[in-house]
Amino acid sequence: EAKRAKSKQGKQYQKTMSEKIKRRLAYVDDMKQGLENGDFKLYYQAQYNHYGDIIGAEALLRWQHPVHGMESPSVYIPIAEESDLILAIGQWVLEQACRDIKKLEQLPLPQTFKKIAINVSAKQLIQHDFKDKIMRAIKLNDIPAERLALELTENLLVENIEDSIKLIADLKANSIDCSIDDFGTGYSSLTYLKRIPASLLKIDRSFVANIEQSSESAAIASMIISLGKTLKMDILAEGVETVAEFNCLKDLGCYQYQGYYFSKPLPFDKFVQLFN
Ligand code: C2E
Ligand code: MG
Ligand code: MG
Ligand code: MG
Repeated sequence: EAKRAKSKQGKQYQKTMSEKIKRRLAYVDDMKQGLENGDFKLYYQAQYNHYGDIIGAEALLRWQHPVHGMESPSVYIPIAEESDLILAIGQWVLEQACRDIKKLEQLPLPQTFKKIAINVSAKQLIQHDFKDKIMRAIKLNDIPAERLALELTENLLVENIEDSIKLIADLKANSIDCSIDDFGTGYSSLTYLKRIPASLLKIDRSFVANIEQSSESAAIASMIISLGKTLKMDILAEGVETVAEFNCLKDLGCYQYQGYYFSKPLPFDKFVQLFN
């Protein structure tokens, strides 16, 4: 009896597993289709200094799913990362960002505006020709390399530490800066951090939320800021939502910000209106 129940349970399990796999595959197919149909868009979230000048922007992927509507990248990026589709998506992001930078170059940009950063996944980074792909996209669109930056998460770097260090140094020599995204949430040790030639540390949103009320968050942010100063890296706070958070970060010595308090991610045409 117990055995039969177990085997029934097993079948149930198998069934739900295969349903799950089927749904996943259908979802990946939708993404593939969406990429072909041009349903993916890049939004831009402006970044500011403490005077309120725009200093740059982060490109954030948006996908209008035909049935589910606007999907969050934190849902579909991890699914895309499980298949090689993330390579095609990442390549599209790179090329689209370069096309948009080309359009920016034709505008009267403020002096303070420096660069557009794109997010990069592990599978992209470990491609042997990743740097060539970047340089080719820059050349093809005839844009200054300085205008493009890459965001890499702490864990992605640590998992491929030696190659990452080489790649980041190589990109830097070609005028392309790298930032460490979501800093403070990963596993990088100070020994690693010292060796990574990144230009910017992005304080994760979790330490920014209600920072003015949390002595723990303030202590962590403060530590990251002094770490950045020691290692000669710039520091940017992510997810700044209120004036209280902004003031607190400024008092702690963080002078670059990104978040809803300043500006939400916007479609390119709306984003460029921020320059008016
Ligand atoms: P991320 O790179 O850390 O991007 C910052 C996220 O915080 C974005 O979420 C942004 O919309 C959100 N955000 C910005 N300001 C605020 C704020 O004040 N409050 C709150 N609550 N959130 C804020 P988004 O656009 O949903 O993207 C989520 C993540 O998906 C990104 O985190 C990044 O890891 C990944 N992602 C987005 N676009 C791409 C892409 O083109 N390629 C890759 N590989 N990953 C991407
Ligand atoms: Mg990012
Ligand atoms: Mg981040
Ligand atoms: Mg994040």
